[in-house]
Amino acid sequence: MKRSPAIIVIGGGPAGLMAAGRAAERGVAVTLIEKMERPGKKLGITGKGRCNITNNRPLDEFLRHFGTGGRFLKPSFYEFFVPDLLAFLASLGVETVTERGSRVFPADNQAVEVVKALAHWTRKTGAAIKTRTRALELLRDGNVITGVRVESNRTGQEKIFRADAVILATGGASYPLTGSTGDGYRLAVSAGHAIVPVRPALVPLETKVDRVKGLQDLTLKNVAVSLRIHGRKPIREFGEMAFTSFGVSGPVILTLSGRAVDALDDGLDVELSIDLKPALDDKKLDARLLRDLRNNPKMETRDLLRGLLPPPLIPLCLDMTGVPDDRTGNQVTAGDRRALRLWLKDFRLPVTGHRPIEEAIITAGGVSLREVNPKTMESRLVKGLFFSGEVLDINADTGGYNLQAAFSTGHLAGVAAAETGKN
Ligand SMILES: Cc1cc2nc3c(=O)[nH]c(=O)nc-3n(C[C@H](O)[C@H](O)[C@H](O)COP(=O)(O)OP(=O)(O)OC[C@H]3O[C@@H](n4cnc5c(N)ncnc54)[C@H](O)[C@@H]3O)c2cc1C
Repeated sequence: MKRSPAIIVIGGGPAGLMAAGRAAERGVAVTLIEKMERPGKKLGITGKGRCNITNNRPLDEFLRHFGTGGRFLKPSFYEFFVPDLLAFLASLGVETVTERGSRVFPADNQAVEVVKALAHWTRKTGAAIKTRTRALELLRDGNVITGVRVESNRTGQEKIFRADAVILATGGASYPLTGSTGDGYRLAVSAGHAIVPVRPALVPLETKVDRVKGLQDLTLKNVAVSLRIHGRKPIREFGEMAFTSFGVSGPVILTLSGRAVDALDDGLDVELSIDLKPALDDKKLDARLLRDLRNNPKMETRDLLRGLLPPPLIPLCLDMTGVPDDRTGNQVTAGDRRALRLWLKDFRLPVTGHRPIEEAIITAGGVSLREVNPKTMESRLVKGLFFSGEVLDINADTGGYNLQAAFSTGHLAGVAAAETGKN
């Protein structure tokens, strides 16, 4: 017989499903409350539907991708890290493959299959999953958690679930149609917790529109993008980026976006500098330009540049450098050549803003880490209240780091909460 009441998990994302299963495996009664019609909606759209589930980089490198939050995560990674997650997934029948040396995906590239396997496991451990049920209020007796008040999305009826422990795994505030609407922050505040201001991270950036006109859907591979924030050392990233109707996106931009958002919020000037030819230094690029011009003395610059640039970028390049598009190879001056070279190495895009949190991959900010014990994920303020996943003030770069953090903190919270339930 399972003891009851025991543990309520709020939120059926990767953190909540993992926490519920781990606690139920330890013989306590667990109920997971999920407000959507099924758990794991966000997990099902991760990695463009392929689910970049974790990353094979070693622990010290892995932690660096979380910035200041890395220190807090150490104990949960010591307990449940990449090899543990991969073995766990394999035990559920989810085989994985490693891409580009470090990013791990399910072998069948199906995020929805990961969701199915995980939710199936959680149920098999004995945890009950109540969908279309929304947590409205955390119930306390002084500084001890006693339960949760919930509401059925079907009937509108309210109900009280008594509990020895509650795990808050409500996720962040991005992509709200997946259910992550930021409820957890309000619930945490009601329990006395401080919230580090919530803001978008891994979010597309808006730029001066005349600079990106006609470039929509253009993807640039193997470019180096530097984020220049007024008066600070530029931060450089190498990889892929894409143009949109409003500005720029893609892996490199998303990686730089968190720092751009904070700088924009501080009212600082933010600019991107794109090096379109990072493999060529100034000398080599000049030699390449010179060769192209000499080999094509009668060709106009608008055609000549096709060897160096994707066609949609050519009019912009000529406009910004002031080199006439009908100037032929033998008419191009040393000054023109210098202007072209500088532009190819340093195409500037002033950043005017960022897309809203609804379009962010990750929410920065959240439950302050100072008030949570990193060894158990338990609140330092309220006994029996635990946290896991994105509701915490942790966020990382793209690459599978965020899902690993959700699984690892879910694991730790589930194991520790089960102990509370037994006392
Ligand atoms: C488009 C996209 C792609 C991504 N791709 C990747 C990727 O490839 N790799 C990676 O590592 N990360 C990726 N992420 C980030 C990753 O999905 C999240 O970090 C992760 O899902 C967080 O897990 P979580 O369990 O903390 O929260 P969530 O997955 O957000 O789950 C929280 C759950 O809580 C429920 N909930 C909220 N409030 C209540 C309430 N009051 N009552 C009941 N239930 C509630 C929600 O409905 C939701 O199901 C991506 C994110 C997005 C948006």
